[in-house]
Amino acid sequence: MPELESSHSTFIAQLPKVELHLHLEGAVRPETLLELSRNKRELRQKVDEWTTARHTQDFRYGNFREFLVAFGIISLLIETPRDYALVTTRLMEWLASQNVQYAEIIFAAGVVLWKKQPVDAIFEAVAAAAEEAEGRTGVRVKWIFDATRQFGMDHVREVLRWAARYRSQGVVGFGIGGDEAAGPARLFPDVFREARDLGLHGVAHAGEACGPDSIRDAVELLGAERIGHGLTAIRDANVMALLRERQIPVEVCPSSNVSTGLIARFEDHPLPKFMEAGLVVTLNSDDPAMFGTSLQEEFLRAARYFELSREALSGLYRNAVHAAFLGEDEKQKLEDRLKPQG
Ligand SMILES: [Zn+2]
Repeated sequence: MPELESSHSTFIAQLPKVELHLHLEGAVRPETLLELSRNKRELRQKVDEWTTARHTQDFRYGNFREFLVAFGIISLLIETPRDYALVTTRLMEWLASQNVQYAEIIFAAGVVLWKKQPVDAIFEAVAAAAEEAEGRTGVRVKWIFDATRQFGMDHVREVLRWAARYRSQGVVGFGIGGDEAAGPARLFPDVFREARDLGLHGVAHAGEACGPDSIRDAVELLGAERIGHGLTAIRDANVMALLRERQIPVEVCPSSNVSTGLIARFEDHPLPKFMEAGLVVTLNSDDPAMFGTSLQEEFLRAARYFELSREALSGLYRNAVHAAFLGEDEKQKLEDRLKPQG
């Protein structure tokens, strides 16, 4: 891996950052997981196996489904509203340490329903913890409620209802995650229309584990305002053109794609080709604790492997500000934070 000059690393550390694709449950670091697994012997054993295996295998999962299972195990460890509050507080502190100014955090309301836990008590604890941490750290957050697409229509609609209920508490978006092949975008146009009618922004994981058609469907059938991953767009010139012409931001998560086995190496990610093609590229960490990364680390890796200049790195920040679900005034304030650093 090419080395970075220390002045470039310092520039990245000081660069303000915006994270648009970050799962709360995937951001729980091993020490917090161990804390949460106290008194849960069976799960504790799974966590031990998982953490040991991941450390020896460099955070690589055998395949995408294996990753989803690991995500499920972690989610089972976060049980009570107090657990959720703890992981929220820790995440906000971690974001502050990376100079993240603003984040739209994905809350897997679908997984909470799957665990048969109360979405209201849990999200209210999360929102309260976030508010407390916002005041202390200066990091601002909004929320995107994520449905587990393979659980079917009733489930997805229920997540949408919860998202709508908490709009006044910072929920700005609704999205679908989980198994892209088992829950294709074409099943959900009505739900996305309802989300829009309720004043929520629609996002979709697409072109991650499935091909470029999945991205086209997310844009054309769902009206998705941002695409999570969009990795496989590179295989289809028409899909690249669609993303460029409509200026649909792509939430690129390179280390995630390496860890889940979708690409072999970070440097194989089409990020530079996306940039050259005029796509609105944003850089994100996805499930940073599960992939041994952070948003800052993604910037460092992208700078190293793709030799990104200060201007290009600042451009990634500007794109994320532009793609955020915030009002123009708030976006301008975020953009202004870049200026002193040129
Ligand atoms: Zn994701």
